[in-house]
Amino acid sequence: MKLKNSYLLGVYDTVVKRNPCEPEFLQAVGEVLESLEPVVEKNPQLIKAGIIDRIVEPERMIVFRVSWVDDAGKVNVNRGFRVQFNSAIGPYKGGLRFHPSVNASIIKFLGFEQIFKNSLTGLPIGGGKGGSDFDPKGKSDNEIMRFCQSFMTELSKHIGADTDVPAGDIGVGAREIGYLYGQYKRLRNEFTGVLTGKGLTYGGSLARTQATGYGLCYFTNEMLSVMKSTDFKGKTVVVSGSGNVAIYATEKAMQLGGKVVALSDSSGYVYDPEGIKLDVVKQIKEVERARISEYANRVESATFTEGCSGIWTVPCDIALPCATQNELNEESAKALVANGVIAVAEGANMPSTPEAVEVFQKAGILFGPAKAANAGGVATSALEMSQNSMRYSWTFDEVDKKLSDIMVNIFHNTYNASKKYGCDGNLVVGANIAGFEKVADAMSAQGVAY
Ligand code: NDP
Repeated sequence: MKLKNSYLLGVYDTVVKRNPCEPEFLQAVGEVLESLEPVVEKNPQLIKAGIIDRIVEPERMIVFRVSWVDDAGKVNVNRGFRVQFNSAIGPYKGGLRFHPSVNASIIKFLGFEQIFKNSLTGLPIGGGKGGSDFDPKGKSDNEIMRFCQSFMTELSKHIGADTDVPAGDIGVGAREIGYLYGQYKRLRNEFTGVLTGKGLTYGGSLARTQATGYGLCYFTNEMLSVMKSTDFKGKTVVVSGSGNVAIYATEKAMQLGGKVVALSDSSGYVYDPEGIKLDVVKQIKEVERARISEYANRVESATFTEGCSGIWTVPCDIALPCATQNELNEESAKALVANGVIAVAEGANMPSTPEAVEVFQKAGILFGPAKAANAGGVATSALEMSQNSMRYSWTFDEVDKKLSDIMVNIFHNTYNASKKYGCDGNLVVGANIAGFEKVADAMSAQGVAY
């Protein structure tokens, strides 16, 4: 923690006392507070208005029991969460994560980051996040459905199209959103845009599936063009993960002329020097829900290596971490730099540890932080909300064009904020400040409402 400002140090101390044993949440808060030092120094009125004291405390945190019956007839119990972090600029918006690692710290770090990310999109959405420690791996479709129905039975009391609009995240894709939506409709008897990431036959938006991965590449391309006068063409790219974000980041990176040579999952990574064959990956991950190691059994030029962090030793020009938080540490960052990486952009939320970010920044590597670089998913979710409200659908190309414009804008707002506060090109600081300013203004205007 490099905080020097005494007011911000006091805020951070309170957060530490209120949230013991929540390392991910403290990591996310610490990073934002560090970035806000020059803003607080220029705008002391923020202190009297308690804007930062308020922004680090969720408006509401809901924790609930989720009981469900497995295929053998046994009752299982999981814990459900929804954090409604900040509604200053719009209804709470943020995904649901189903993964055994989910706990209050992870949900709060994600919800906190979501405030600034959603603000950066320029669209009217507040920050929220939710999920459960339920593990979808190895469960039958019927078990997934019963879990989702039980989860939504409680969650439905707290959400609504103008209140809080959840979406997918790790472990929550089209199948889960469908079951959750069906249960919400059954309980409320209303067909509203209460979830995003819906199927195309019942209110989903074209290009939502692709949006986070595509948006990441639009952002990265703009960053490369403005800050290094180059682009994806002819570059070797490494993408971690092999879920929704990784697959569509790979697709767009290849369309823009890059060659993606590695992908991973939580058991290891595949390396294919001839370039990843995405149709094979989609068949394995989207259709069969199998392991990425299967790719090496089907493609002769590929090898599989156990252990996921090894992926960062594969030489590349561009690295796109798209799996999970803290998956890229200092040692991995040093390996990437030693192998000549020129740009790193985060598809996952907080995938780089603070030490790794420091390695990139000291080495002059372009670094696109998650809040800015992966905001395309939630931006397109907001476009889905607009289409639902209008009862109208835009074409794929219309949504894709809006997404691309939003990502280019996010890059410029982030870059300009870094320059305005004397941290030229530090996009971590730029994203935190640009995201913060709009929310702080809206909070001030609304008085001491929360
Ligand atoms: P998915 O569940 O579709 O995919 C997650 C992928 O990451 C899986 O391949 C998973 O492998 C892999 N993974 C998990 N842990 C590790 C690890 N330690 N090392 C390597 N691979 C790992 O999730 P998404 O693609 O939706 O989400 C990925 C990240 O992107 C998350 O951080 C999420 O918060 C973020 N994000 C997602 C958005 C979206 O629109 N979906 C929007 C913005 C951010 P395995 O199957 O073995 O678990």
